[in-house]
Amino acid sequence: MYIIELFLKLKEDFKAGKFKKQEEIKPVQKEKCDHFFVPIDSTKRILACSKCGEIYKLKKGEVNPFE
Ligand SMILES: [Zn+2]
Repeated sequence: MYIIELFLKLKEDFKAGKFKKQEEIKPVQKEKCDHFFVPIDSTKRILACSKCGEIYKLKKGEVNPFE
């Protein structure tokens, strides 16, 4: 549960623009991110990119293609 909260907090911070300076420093890395989603909760319904931290929530019946 703690990990999920951490990721959600990171995403909120990202939306709030707190990471804007980091984006500017590493624009190439962000463009080139080849998302690799891994489950971050026990139900494996919520995934996060292990490279850039992007959150992806599986829809009902959807399978994690990266697993
Ligand atoms: Zn990514």
